[in-house]
Amino acid sequence: MKTRTVSSIIFSILIISNLFAQRNNNYKDIAGSAFLENSSYKLLERICDEVGGRFLGTPQNERAIEILKSELEKIGCTVKLEKFKVPGWVRGNDEVIMQIPAPLKLQAVALGYVNATPTFTAGVVYASYGFDEDYQNINAEDKIVLVTQEPPKGKEQILRYEAIDIAVKHKAKAILFINEYAGTINMAGVGNFKGTPTKIPAYSLTYEEGKRIQRLIERNIPVNVEITTKSFCKDVEPENVVVTFKGKVDGKIVVGAHIDSWDIAPGAIDNGVGSAILFDVARLLKKYNPDNYYTVELVWFNGEEIGLGGSTKYAEMHWNDKIIAMINMDMTGSPTGFNVMGFDEYKPFFENLIQSLNGFNLSDGVVSRPYTNSDHMPFMFEGIPTFTLQDHLDENMYKFYHDRGDSFDKVNKKYLSEAAAVVSIMVTSLSNDMNISYTKRNEKEMVDLFKKFGLDKRLKRQGEWKYKID
Ligand SMILES: [Zn+2]
Repeated sequence: MKTRTVSSIIFSILIISNLFAQRNNNYKDIAGSAFLENSSYKLLERICDEVGGRFLGTPQNERAIEILKSELEKIGCTVKLEKFKVPGWVRGNDEVIMQIPAPLKLQAVALGYVNATPTFTAGVVYASYGFDEDYQNINAEDKIVLVTQEPPKGKEQILRYEAIDIAVKHKAKAILFINEYAGTINMAGVGNFKGTPTKIPAYSLTYEEGKRIQRLIERNIPVNVEITTKSFCKDVEPENVVVTFKGKVDGKIVVGAHIDSWDIAPGAIDNGVGSAILFDVARLLKKYNPDNYYTVELVWFNGEEIGLGGSTKYAEMHWNDKIIAMINMDMTGSPTGFNVMGFDEYKPFFENLIQSLNGFNLSDGVVSRPYTNSDHMPFMFEGIPTFTLQDHLDENMYKFYHDRGDSFDKVNKKYLSEAAAVVSIMVTSLSNDMNISYTKRNEKEMVDLFKKFGLDKRLKRQGEWKYKID
């Protein structure tokens, strides 16, 4: 009896050490293949150049999904397209034309959910940062309000949707936002996070043209602008792209990246890179993590840019799945560490993982800095542990965010290989770790988490606070 126990212990140790060696070999294969057989760069080039802007509900969005699906099938993945319905928006042939003091068709971009209005002309008034108190000395009634997006001193920046509401309150006919950054950049974005038509037209102007109008107004030179808005709101029925690597037990790790981009932007960095890295993660997991203990589900979310549509719907549709953790990749660069987003119980797991990644510069280590406004949010709201990489992007990579300049030439191939290796190793490790289990935080714990990191205020301002507790 005794000998049998001893031999069975030895046998178990052998199995465990064998598994460990196996896993280490997998890591080497994954890292080697990520660099030597990188497949994300080519896919990204196709998506950025053959398709470009792939806004939710457009034929380009469908085309990007077709390319991704066929490439996934080529590497042997079974692809599921999960349809959902959300409020969408169609950009029309809008025009914002300065008439007085000199004619100029402005490089203006309507914000998402701006709805068609007949052409009108009005004088422009300047309302600084767009806060209520900035209207004290101006009469905005029936005027077009000009607002700067440069950060105000000693105050948090206004959200565009808040500035629109304040302009409406002061009876303005439209609002124009001066972009914060110079370089004739427009910053596309939504007019609100709810998917409802904005009450007045709202446009993003470039820094240069916006500043010119601001200077004219400050010199008391009247400025008249004519606005024609043809864009309109419309429900759309797009798809999330899902690839599942079934595990041996209940419990699932979700890894996501949004495939959609703004229409004006080729979306190389936001978020072509995340989507392309996820493609390489699919290839690497398929090849080197065939016996995953927990299920791994890779999801290319659609409609992140117009209010987290795809991830919100996915979280609703998969309400009953036991999601152990969600890993989000949005504008992913060269890995510098891991972010456990307030789920500090996972710190030891990631600290341990770093020990296996000696050649990567993970000098940020493991941080706990949750943030909002990307696809991890619907999971986080549910109390599901969410993680991202800490990473580095070069300045010219994020500067053109939501603009025409977010193009393929900005992409650094090496960053894609690094991130694909690190994320694939992270997922391999997580999906085979029998020490982790399915545990969700409850409402009270999530409220405490958001409050601890000061995110409750922003979520409330955006109208996204999900909890009954204040
Ligand atoms: Zn993004």
